[in-house]
Amino acid sequence: MRAAVYSGYGIMPELTQVADPACPPDGVVIAVGASGVCRSDWHAWKGHDPVVLPHIGGHELAGVVAQAGPEVTRWRAGDRVTVPFVCGCGRCEYCLAGAAQVCPRQTQPGFTGPGSFAELVAIHAAETNLVALPDGLDFTAAAGLGCRVATAFRALTAHGRVRAGEWLAVHGCGGVGLSAVMIGAALGARVLAVDVAAPALDRARELGAEFTVDAGAADPAAVIAEITGGGAHVSVDALGSPGTAACSVRCLRRRGRHVQVGLLLGGPTPMPMDLAVARELELYGSHGMSARDYPPMMTMVADGTLRTELLVGGVIGLADAGQALAAMNGPSEGAGMTVIRFAL
Ligand SMILES: [Zn+2]
Ligand SMILES: [Zn+2]
Repeated sequence: MRAAVYSGYGIMPELTQVADPACPPDGVVIAVGASGVCRSDWHAWKGHDPVVLPHIGGHELAGVVAQAGPEVTRWRAGDRVTVPFVCGCGRCEYCLAGAAQVCPRQTQPGFTGPGSFAELVAIHAAETNLVALPDGLDFTAAAGLGCRVATAFRALTAHGRVRAGEWLAVHGCGGVGLSAVMIGAALGARVLAVDVAAPALDRARELGAEFTVDAGAADPAAVIAEITGGGAHVSVDALGSPGTAACSVRCLRRRGRHVQVGLLLGGPTPMPMDLAVARELELYGSHGMSARDYPPMMTMVADGTLRTELLVGGVIGLADAGQALAAMNGPSEGAGMTVIRFAL
């Protein structure tokens, strides 16, 4: 198969002929139809999130089952699928409870093994990790369901429990942040989008934000308190910096819910726990979404409530994967999701 392979951190990936992946007995090999290029792929490429070299990145994928292992009963060749970027082992107490997103033996295509910047990708524990795509949903529009859209959906619904009419603040309008803006608006929340880049805030407005807040001009928490009359009911830090994490907590009204989605790769991060006590705030970490929790989101995709194609900024071929990673050396500034499209 052909794959975009990098030999070292920061070295431009090259289109290379490599061996096809072996099909795990409990898993499948997926022929990739489309793969998003996510900032997490860039972090791995830069060595912020170590991988085994040489490496094939890519974890936001949609495609067709090409081969199923002998232990797989629910899936067969030809099924159109996507996969959560955190794949559970399918056997531990967390996977059996439906929480594969925190499986201690999790695998992640594009991080713990070869990913979807390739014509084929192997996925373990297919019964735990595969999600059927609605008929008629294009692979390009479906790719984001593996990472940014699912991550944002679960943060807002499982942890944020955002309801129609509530104020939702989204800090950082990159891939996950813009997905959260779109999903929040679809759920009926009144969305405030926070970023330092004017183009990102413009995109947020197009995707349903009622207010945008320039984080470079004033303290966003003070601006949000003013607009909302006391603070947001739910706030998401989709960026993952000490500053945005603290701001997300500070912008909440009493008894509000903060959801930390940005990975905070820098390590332990101070949080204003004094406010969490005095205002009875709820603070959550959110790490993707297990396949078991996908159905409500897929219903909204299938009926057109969530239009994931609106998140796509550009479609490229596999040969341009390296350039798409290199383009992330600067801030994304609302450019939209770059999707690698394969001939399928
Ligand atoms: Zn991702
Ligand atoms: Zn597990």
